[in-house]
Amino acid sequence: MAKRFVYFFGGGRAEGEGTMKEVLGGKGAGLAEMANLGIPVPAGFTISTEMCTVYYQNRGKFPAELRTAVDKAMARVEKIMGMRFGDPANPLLVSCRSGARRSMPGMMETVLNIGLTSKTIPGLIAKTGNPRFVYDAYRRLIQMYSDVVMEKAAGVEPAEGMGIRAQLEREMQKLKAAKGCKQDTDLTEDDLKALVGTYKAKIQEVLGKPFPDEPQEQLWGGIRAVFQSWMGKRACSYRRIEGIPDDWGTAVNVQAMVFGNMGDTSATGVAFTRNPATGDNHFYGEWLPNAQGEDVVAGIRTPNPLNEATRPAGTEHLPSLERAMPATYRELHAIRNKLERHYRDMQDIEFTIQEGRLWMLQTRVGKRNGPSAVRMAVDMLKEKLITAEQAVLRVTPGQLDELLHPILDPAAEAQAKAIAKGLPAGPGGACGQVVFTASSAVEWAKQGKKVILVREETNPEDVEGMRAAEAILTARGGMTSHAALVARGWGKCCIVGAGAIHVDPHARQLAVDSTVVREGDWLSLNGTKGAVYLGRLPMVVGSEENPYFVAFMKTCDKVRRLGVRANADTPADAAKARQFGAQGIGLFRTEHMFYGKGAEEPLFKLRKMIHSKTVAERRKALEELFPHIKADIKATLAAMDGLPVTIRLLDPPLHEFVPSREDERARLAQSLNITMAELAARADALRETNPMMGHRGVRLGITYPEISETWLRGIFEAAAELIKEGKKALPEIMIPVTCDVSELKHQAELTKQVHDAVAAKYGMKKIPHLYGTMIEIPRAALRAGEIAAATEFFSFGTNDLTQMTYGFSRDDIGSFVPDLIEKKLLPADPFQMLDQAGVGELMKLGIERGRATRPNLKIGICGEHGGEPSSVKFCHKVGMNYVSCSPFRVPIARLAAAQAVAEEGAAKPKKAGKKVVEGDK
Ligand code: ADP
Ligand code: MG
Ligand code: MG
Repeated sequence: MAKRFVYFFGGGRAEGEGTMKEVLGGKGAGLAEMANLGIPVPAGFTISTEMCTVYYQNRGKFPAELRTAVDKAMARVEKIMGMRFGDPANPLLVSCRSGARRSMPGMMETVLNIGLTSKTIPGLIAKTGNPRFVYDAYRRLIQMYSDVVMEKAAGVEPAEGMGIRAQLEREMQKLKAAKGCKQDTDLTEDDLKALVGTYKAKIQEVLGKPFPDEPQEQLWGGIRAVFQSWMGKRACSYRRIEGIPDDWGTAVNVQAMVFGNMGDTSATGVAFTRNPATGDNHFYGEWLPNAQGEDVVAGIRTPNPLNEATRPAGTEHLPSLERAMPATYRELHAIRNKLERHYRDMQDIEFTIQEGRLWMLQTRVGKRNGPSAVRMAVDMLKEKLITAEQAVLRVTPGQLDELLHPILDPAAEAQAKAIAKGLPAGPGGACGQVVFTASSAVEWAKQGKKVILVREETNPEDVEGMRAAEAILTARGGMTSHAALVARGWGKCCIVGAGAIHVDPHARQLAVDSTVVREGDWLSLNGTKGAVYLGRLPMVVGSEENPYFVAFMKTCDKVRRLGVRANADTPADAAKARQFGAQGIGLFRTEHMFYGKGAEEPLFKLRKMIHSKTVAERRKALEELFPHIKADIKATLAAMDGLPVTIRLLDPPLHEFVPSREDERARLAQSLNITMAELAARADALRETNPMMGHRGVRLGITYPEISETWLRGIFEAAAELIKEGKKALPEIMIPVTCDVSELKHQAELTKQVHDAVAAKYGMKKIPHLYGTMIEIPRAALRAGEIAAATEFFSFGTNDLTQMTYGFSRDDIGSFVPDLIEKKLLPADPFQMLDQAGVGELMKLGIERGRATRPNLKIGICGEHGGEPSSVKFCHKVGMNYVSCSPFRVPIARLAAAQAVAEEGAAKPKKAGKKVVEGDK
């Protein structure tokens, strides 16, 4: 049997249905579904997307069977509507509407009123007794048709402002001015008749062709134009960007016209089944009496509110549909309920009322912002419209992110003009007084001022200032620059690479062209968009106290199986992490205590240790350092109250801590009782060509076992004391930069000795803990089978693992990764989005081999990727127990983990869900 290319709908049924988007396009599928539901839809038919492909294969010719099928379908439409296309006495008019699977800019716009010709006009006038309406419809047809069919689809490229639509528009303005009319609706029948004549002459003059006066020619011109627009420039480039294949094609919908412009009992409108801005469960929309098609959205007249409940302030003088046409409104409201119950989601609908009779013209899933997406998901779950699995799929990670940050008041922002643009490195908004050094940021913040730290670019020495600031703005750097990474980690508003800004820290000012901003002046930043504004814009809170947010996160937790922890280095971060729902700490970096506030003392002692030459010297320095280590660990273990805390032993290359300041070096030399020259020599000995691949991680603990010993003792004593105090503590000892099981055995021996000694000291049999390693070197992933014999857990350190797998230095990628991405040789920055094909493959291998040795091996991830949604889903799929990410990403990770389960469920038949959480035990 020949393939079906034409699908009829109308009169309470349809040949297609809502699930057939691929064949019918979005619009056609919606119309078919509504017809099947018994909702009043003007009859029509959809020419399938496959015909679009055939059309191009045939070099723009329609197969004969299409003509036959269209004729047949048109006959059915005529029968149902009781009119005939092209009939002089009782003419049927149709619209021709494009409809791809996904709505796409650049596709042909709809042509209304097809079928009006010199032969059918008198018939329609006689039938309606409304010549003004008929000529209004005719001039609209001419405007739309000449523009989209005769000009755009024909590939005519007019000069700026000389498009046919603009030229016709000007003729209409001229006429209105001559007649002293304000609105289109003030034009009379005779005016419109004259206008139509002018239009036709203009079209002949500009396009060199007459406007077609044949219904069939109009119809096929419209159909052809839709297909033609599929290969139009804008549509093609949009598909390239969005990765939509060319052979998807577009469908064409031909549909009987209904008229909202037949007088005051006629109207047209658009509506949302719920408020798309707030998520509020109220029917929301706009309408206009005596109007056609897109008059509502086009902003020609101010539209009226749909009902009283959602009437915006300041519209008291405008009639609602609820009041103006109560019976029709009730009918529309019933359809709203029916569509929501059917689609189980908020719908965006179009309707037209012709002389009191309601017709539906479109339904599709409505777009929404973050807060409303969350609210609708929660409400619909409560209403039992959707399941928990469906609810978690209703909110994208980006939408959830909108709720996690305060933002600039959108209304105020719309009024403001950005002075500079940069990369949106840290989402949310902020305003503050500008400072140019980290130290003034700290000082001003201490005085209770809100500051924005502006730097050319930041480095680790700026960290304290960055923390004190509301937001960070840099003139240079990319999305993986120091400023961007640090800010993202804290969930702080940040814009980087705002190239138009010239920063002059000495003069304490910045300049953008002739605008100068001095220290203390106010700036406002939108870190989600990367926009910089002068002055102080009002802010609104995204709100963690939002009850819908709380309820939504609970639902995510019910659905997910993957545990979610946070990377946190201080008790304050730990508290934040718990507040965001973290179930433990997946990475606690002890070296953090050597940076920033209160770090002077421990850092000095660490430096002494580093510059020690003999074991005795080193032990002495470590002994001094010990109380700091223990206190730091104890505070964080206490803050986590028995939740697991993965503590990494000292990791960075020691040279990183060598002081650069003369006075610091002098104090150090004195304290070590050596000369400055000797100190310099010792520091020099620590220098490495390639420190990231040098003497660091477990290698330090092997060369200097006393370093590991000191940290281990700190961990065990902290835990033992907490337990003795009646509190809970669960440390997980993590060995970094391992490449072979022998290293782990070596450190395990030490761990056991220290454990036994500390346990004895506190009179305990055993101090609860786990012993494990980071897998961050490819060799460790490959040797995971052996490594698992000596460890109870793995944590994939995917930052280093990515670095080592690609051989990309993560501090130097700025010079080549953007180029690789732009040339499409790399799909994304692998430091942001886990490279599942390569790095992920190593992880899978490591997990398989590790679990083959030790089936209950606990496995997590602690790189930046632990908070990136696609990477989180990957971690779920490969069977990890948990992901760990910065505290502010924890809700995103909880959502992504839930979505991973829901997506599995959507693919497979549902099995009884087991009660969740702690995949992490
Ligand atoms: P878009 O994809 O831009 O929304 P549509 O095909 O939905 O384009 O049409 C544009 C406008 O014309 C909408 O307001 C729609 O309701 C209206 N419209 C389309 N077809 C008809 C019709 N057969 N009768 C009345 N109005 C129509
Ligand atoms: Mg539409
Ligand atoms: Mg590492």
